[in-house]
Amino acid sequence: MFKKAFGKTGLDVSILGFGCMRLPITDNNDPASIDYDLATRMIRKAIDRGVNYVDTAYPYHSNQGRTAPGASEPFVAHALKDGYRERVSLATKLPTWMVESRKQMNEILDEQLKRLETSHIDFYLAHNVNVNVWDKMVGLGLLDFMEEAKKDGRIKYAGFSFHDHYELFERVIKSYDWDMTQIQYNYLDVNYQAGQRGLKLAAELGVPVSIMEPLRGGFLVDHIPEELQKSLASVRPDWTMADWGLRWVMNQPGVGVVLSGMTAMSHVDDNIKIAETLVPLSERETEALSRVRDYFHARLKVDCTGCGYCMPCSSGVDIPKNFLYYNDYFLMDSPEIQQRSKYYYGAQVGESERASNCVHCHECEEKCPQGLAISDMMEDVCNIFCSK
Ligand code: SF4
Ligand code: SF4
Repeated sequence: MFKKAFGKTGLDVSILGFGCMRLPITDNNDPASIDYDLATRMIRKAIDRGVNYVDTAYPYHSNQGRTAPGASEPFVAHALKDGYRERVSLATKLPTWMVESRKQMNEILDEQLKRLETSHIDFYLAHNVNVNVWDKMVGLGLLDFMEEAKKDGRIKYAGFSFHDHYELFERVIKSYDWDMTQIQYNYLDVNYQAGQRGLKLAAELGVPVSIMEPLRGGFLVDHIPEELQKSLASVRPDWTMADWGLRWVMNQPGVGVVLSGMTAMSHVDDNIKIAETLVPLSERETEALSRVRDYFHARLKVDCTGCGYCMPCSSGVDIPKNFLYYNDYFLMDSPEIQQRSKYYYGAQVGESERASNCVHCHECEEKCPQGLAISDMMEDVCNIFCSK
């Protein structure tokens, strides 16, 4: 399997990583009911075929919300027995939204080492860094904590996973000598969150990048309209929608490892095949994907590029973030996608950042290079997302 040098770590990391956020479960109503037998066979098969990066997090597969430890970490400990632990770099994350003190960072890390039954974590990431948690975490001593954990050997490398706009990404990545970062990236979301600019900046700073949501949570497999699928098939009849999505992202400059959440053995087989037969996309293939991107971009409700020039808002509204989820809501005429957008809006946009706080002062509008009527649009955003 294709491997890449991973920044200054000196490691060669497989282009395909095993993400343990969507493992197969035995009870659809219980995310903690991981199918140990199947999921263990899946992860070990991937490792036997060359995958050497496994990613999990404290709350993955929790059935009590994201403030409770999930079933993923203990499962990973089980699956990596029999010598598999030594064959991979193991990544897990500090739940930043739960942390209220430096002492707690140490306690959670120690708990994770026990849950993962390992002497050390290779890549330890501050999880879900966004504007709500970043200043708090720095104030509580996150960067000293990472240094100390590296020195005492509990972690080898420090990183952060990121969910916010580019300006914050730039601030965070320049604030410390990070060993890696993790961002959302796929052929649809090139200007979303850290996006292409973030990928480029990370490369300039020598920080390797792992990619999450390369298929946009399955959207790029399950929700591509039939006519677009036909157009893609006319170029590569042998490629599935997963082929298009993964091959595109794996070929992007600056991408180190692509995390794929695999829920069935067939996903493991398909993804390994893609990673084993990876070659640069041809011009025709790249153009075919551009047409898909254009189709979805034409459906955007608000022409917001996420540049952040309108910020800060004196009332605390995170304007680009509100537009981001609003656009997402209208991407497909699909109740499932709309539900998902509402969920992410609730989880990622803090109370104080929501459109409902807009006092319609219009100050932001003078700063917007797109000339958007932001104030009026905040009402539209609220109509979708604010609880009545
Ligand atoms: S119009 Fe609304 S979003 Fe814009 S600066 Fe004023 S309060 Fe903030
Ligand atoms: S300035 Fe305009 S385009 Fe840029 S983030 Fe704000 S609303 Fe979007």
